[in-house]
Amino acid sequence: MSNPPGHQPAVVWFRDDLRLGDHPALHAALELNRPIVAVYVLDEESAGIRPLGAAARWWLDQSLRSLATSLELLGSRLVLRRGPADRVIDELVHETDAAAVVWNRRYGAAERAVDTRIKSAMQARGIDAHSFAGSLLFEPWTIQTGQGGPYSVFTPFWRSCLAAAPPRPPVPAPTAIAPWDGVVNSDELDTWALSPTAPDRAAGLRENWTPGEIAAQAALDRFLATSLADYASRRDEPARNVTSRLSPHLRWGEISPYQVWHATQKVQRGASGSAAASGIRFLTELGWREFAYHVLFHAPDLATANLRPAFDAFPWPELDPQALKAWQHGRTGFALVDAGMRELWRTGSMHNRVRMVAASFLIKNLLIDWREGERWFWDTLVDADPASNPFGWQWVAGSGADAAPYFRVFNPELQAAKFDPQEQYIRENVPEYGTDAYPARLVDLGETRRAALAAYERVKNTTV
Ligand code: FAD
Repeated sequence: MSNPPGHQPAVVWFRDDLRLGDHPALHAALELNRPIVAVYVLDEESAGIRPLGAAARWWLDQSLRSLATSLELLGSRLVLRRGPADRVIDELVHETDAAAVVWNRRYGAAERAVDTRIKSAMQARGIDAHSFAGSLLFEPWTIQTGQGGPYSVFTPFWRSCLAAAPPRPPVPAPTAIAPWDGVVNSDELDTWALSPTAPDRAAGLRENWTPGEIAAQAALDRFLATSLADYASRRDEPARNVTSRLSPHLRWGEISPYQVWHATQKVQRGASGSAAASGIRFLTELGWREFAYHVLFHAPDLATANLRPAFDAFPWPELDPQALKAWQHGRTGFALVDAGMRELWRTGSMHNRVRMVAASFLIKNLLIDWREGERWFWDTLVDADPASNPFGWQWVAGSGADAAPYFRVFNPELQAAKFDPQEQYIRENVPEYGTDAYPARLVDLGETRRAALAAYERVKNTTV
């Protein structure tokens, strides 16, 4: 393919940034005054890329439909290709005789390896290849301890972020996009069969979520207008619905953390008292997301290896598949755990406080390796995140960065009494709770806690 002079397109490669607003790569491509070829590549083949879970695939399917519609409204279209990204991008650049390829960065090791290879291959062919910061407020390698290393404790990490240059303002969404007028083939999204059919969980996901950039902005606006003021005081109560529910939108980049940051700051500037405190608290939670990525960047096998190697000595008993199944399906006889696990299966999400309690129960009362739980969450969460999910699991397990100490074992009954005192959340998710149909307790909390602490002695006595 050869283009008329000046008409070589720029390829904009969409990845975990399925939006048009605050998309620095798209913005830079438009500044080149070239026609645009927008592409999404479903790469399940490159070495080390973790296959998406079922709930995440459903979200991706819906989000791609939304992005395609938004591009069409501006005069462009979304090209869909499947295969190893090296090959696919190379073919696309060749087919369209593109002069440039741009993208926003990813932070997993396998993804970075792919991106580095593509950048070198493009540059070797004289094609501009540029990457941009669009998914994190602070690039992981720019935040360093006094000794020049990564942080392993959140508070100094976040202090260091806040002392750095403030996050740039969001870049505006384009109002029109000049499409490339050559012929370029695209897969039909339906042929990717991303929506789960066996079992068919899509109905529950559809009922609870609307993926896409417009819904993401609406969720942010709604949260800032109606819930921010109560966030600091009520965020731990699962029946309250005061958290933002932005996590899947952030996971897929339907909204950028820069947009969230600046919109929150704007509201906060006019606020005082509890609303101001809530704003700070909310932005600190965004900070935990940054920290999880900081940790992942420096420990790429976060989902499979204990961050603290001493935990390799933990004597996990042989896996009891029945106990794991009871946990996964919300039939442990501990109401808050069961409510959370059923919420997860039904809606693709779980409240943060309940995630901590359910994870602690799996690890410290069922003595099941945190990696089993991480895998289940990876498959069932719509916000299943390569950084926040393993980070959260290792935090609860005690093996992670700035983790809860292992001896802190959440008691699910006390947690329920404290955070769901009216049992509203429990009854919403476990309708048979309190009747004979509800399962008996699977384990004795005191006994299993003691067994877990005894097992932990092995870790304590290991000096790695
Ligand atoms: P809000 O309270 O409104 O917070 C705003 C945003 O800050 C969130 O959308 C999220 O992006 C970020 N955030 C908040 N808390 C955390 C946290 N502890 N760690 C990292 N980021 C945070 N979050 C995910 O996005 N994906 C996951 O796969 C994930 N897995 C988890 C697994 C476990 C075992 C635990 C304990 C936590 C996990 N979290 C995960 C963190 C947290 O539970 C969710 O981000 C939060 O419940 C999302 O709800 P929200 O958007 O209403 O959060």
